[in-house]
Amino acid sequence: MNTKIIAIANQKGGVAKTTSTLNIGVALRKMKQAVLLIDGDPQSSLSKAYWHLQDTDEYIGLTELMTAAIQRKPFDAQTAIRHDELNDIDYIPANINLSGVETQLVNARLRESIMQRALQDKAIIGKYDYVLIDCPPSLSTLLYNELTAADEVIIPVEPEDMSIEGINLLLDTVADVQEYTNEKLHVLGFMITKMNARANLHKKNVELLGRTFDEIDIIGTIHRTINVAESVSSAKALALYTENTTNEYYNKAADEYKSIAKHITLMVR
Ligand code: ADP
Ligand code: MG
Repeated sequence: MNTKIIAIANQKGGVAKTTSTLNIGVALRKMKQAVLLIDGDPQSSLSKAYWHLQDTDEYIGLTELMTAAIQRKPFDAQTAIRHDELNDIDYIPANINLSGVETQLVNARLRESIMQRALQDKAIIGKYDYVLIDCPPSLSTLLYNELTAADEVIIPVEPEDMSIEGINLLLDTVADVQEYTNEKLHVLGFMITKMNARANLHKKNVELLGRTFDEIDIIGTIHRTINVAESVSSAKALALYTENTTNEYYNKAADEYKSIAKHITLMVR
């Protein structure tokens, strides 16, 4: 199995990186793909929102995997992998201690490639079709590690107070990674999130994005919907939380994530 690692990255907070990581992952699972989600953010929103893990809980996750890689100690990645029964998906959780890893990274040898090395484990490579990494809202050494480990990067962009300058900074980081630590990194595209179809500003911003970065595809659009908050409160992906209930209204965002997953299966193989 040819494992493809996809980073969901944007240093801006609130653009739906975490929401998209889970929902793209589950949409890929529904297409019979083997998927591993990695919570790559010390704020650990994925681990807290969907897996109900607290910073004080004892478990093995990304912090331990990265620490072992920094110290060059043997580590079986399988021990960090858990299964989310509700969403039927495997994951590696994180907690606030991942920020301590960031500090250790600064002095580590080959510090940009620690995660790349950590993920080269038979429990991951060759076992999953897709590994999705939920990246932190910072242009940090941790993000640099995640981009160095990845084959593809998807950039979620919210068309509300969209910053071309911010996107340029992220693309500069991607270019650095491509030049120095991971020449195979490819930008799969932008993904428009929390779109309000009726807001003129949003339409204008999406046009501006397309014009400014005409070499980068827009791989899909997720509209703003109350269904996201509802799905989070049930700890289930959009595609699942209305299943087996009297579907109050059409869950459009689930379909939108499905079409992004379809795009991934066609373009990233
Ligand atoms: P990030 O990981 O980039 O910080 P999140 O995925 O945590 O962003 O999303 C930020 C907030 O926006 C969360 O409260 C989330 O529930 C909400 N959100 C994400 N996508 C949508 C959407 N399509 N419609 C409405 N709210 C959304
Ligand atoms: Mg997040």
